[in-house]
Amino acid sequence: MPLDHLYQQPHRRFNPLTSEWVLVSPQRTERPWRGQIETAAAPAGSAYDPGCYLCPGNERAGGVRNPNYSSTFIFTNDFAALRPDNPPERHDESGRGLLLSESEAGTCKVVCFSPRHDLTLARMTVPEILSVVDVWVEQYAEIGSLPYVNYVEIFENRGEMMGCSNPHPHGQIWANQTIPNEPRKEQEAQRAYAEKHGVCLLCEYLQREARAQSRVVLENDHFIAVVPFWAVWPFEVLVIAKQHFRDLLALDRPAHAGLAEILKDLTTRYDNLFETSFPYSMGFHQAPTDSEAHTEWHLHAHFYPPLLRSATIRKFMVGYELLASPQRDITPEAAAATLRDLSGIHYAEIKPR
Ligand SMILES: [Zn+2]
Ligand SMILES: [Zn+2]
Ligand SMILES: [Zn+2]
Repeated sequence: MPLDHLYQQPHRRFNPLTSEWVLVSPQRTERPWRGQIETAAAPAGSAYDPGCYLCPGNERAGGVRNPNYSSTFIFTNDFAALRPDNPPERHDESGRGLLLSESEAGTCKVVCFSPRHDLTLARMTVPEILSVVDVWVEQYAEIGSLPYVNYVEIFENRGEMMGCSNPHPHGQIWANQTIPNEPRKEQEAQRAYAEKHGVCLLCEYLQREARAQSRVVLENDHFIAVVPFWAVWPFEVLVIAKQHFRDLLALDRPAHAGLAEILKDLTTRYDNLFETSFPYSMGFHQAPTDSEAHTEWHLHAHFYPPLLRSATIRKFMVGYELLASPQRDITPEAAAATLRDLSGIHYAEIKPR
């Protein structure tokens, strides 16, 4: 039966109540359960952990061994949520979009930022972060050129609070055939704004923020980091390219360095806020790789950190927020002032443990 086949492969299902899609990856249940059973973990702060599947020379699930890499290292996720060899299928059981599903082709990669198990972006040097930027640029170009890939999502999920159990500094790249919900909504908004006002939404927004300064956290020649006017998470930050670049490929060499610098400065301030390795999900939003011009797109990165008042007190998106609308207490202006006033030197370098 074709439906059985479709439902066993990565596919997406349409929610007719919200017009959004959910990605279903049933093949991932095949992956071995490795959580919570790791024994003999290396002591905190070790540069190498023999039990870490991302450290150089270690074995990953399925018996593959990592090379002895010395800078960055990229591999295809051993239990990817998306796969390239997925035959196109579409099924609309009711004929009216009530039970609508489509196959989804794609790929998932892991990017190790450093061979050092004990580092984070905040503790890496700007040249080291620049190597990560280089990988992002190169991977966006390479993955984006695949015929079955129309959108490349580069992201980092940091900290146990965000469900990331491995502290080894790494990010992921998920790429797929269709444009996912969040960039699709932003694409429609950017396009509509440009059509209505004849200017780019984020170009105009960043100029207003630069003038007002009240929500600006950091700024260099190439990027600006603001707590957006509409921020939902307490210390949410939007990093915007100062020039109208549609994607990472449009950045020149000085802009790569500018990106590495602002990432270092921002993550350092985040760590300094509660003197902890600050958890967050961050990711880039940029033009799809579907060969269209996409002049409406303006490159930016979102940081969504969950912490609210201390290293352990977090914001939950529950109740009214889950069912009706996000809500916040601390204003974005106050959050920006707090982040701005923090030291640019990492707390662990001031008072080593
Ligand atoms: Zn490691
Ligand atoms: Zn723009
Ligand atoms: Zn965005």
